Amino acid sequence: MARPEELLGYTYRAETYCGECIFDAVGTTRGDLLDAYPPGLAPEPWLDRCAELLGIDRGREASFDSEDFPKAISREQAAESLSCRSCGEPLALQLAIKRPAPS
Ligand SMILES: [Zn+2]
Repeated sequence: MARPEELLGYTYRAETYCGECIFDAVGTTRGDLLDAYPPGLAPEPWLDRCAELLGIDRGREASFDSEDFPKAISREQAAESLSCRSCGEPLALQLAIKRPAPS
């Protein structure tokens, strides 16, 4: 079984966002998702629900485009230092987002 991934943030529409700002980034373009699921959840469960609503399989990142839905950036993927487009914080300093290992 794979170990949980540590996520630093998300790529969405060619920009990088932290786990705090991804709600607004998605909500700006997809207000219907914010209406359906008000933020209050951690980013991962929130994105899981939104993906389900849209019929997006987050487990297969090749099956959707980051123009349409945020893609997670894992610690391993972040070769260079990234900062959030919205708040400007370096992603490495953000509290890492834990994603449960795929079952
Ligand atoms: Zn941010």
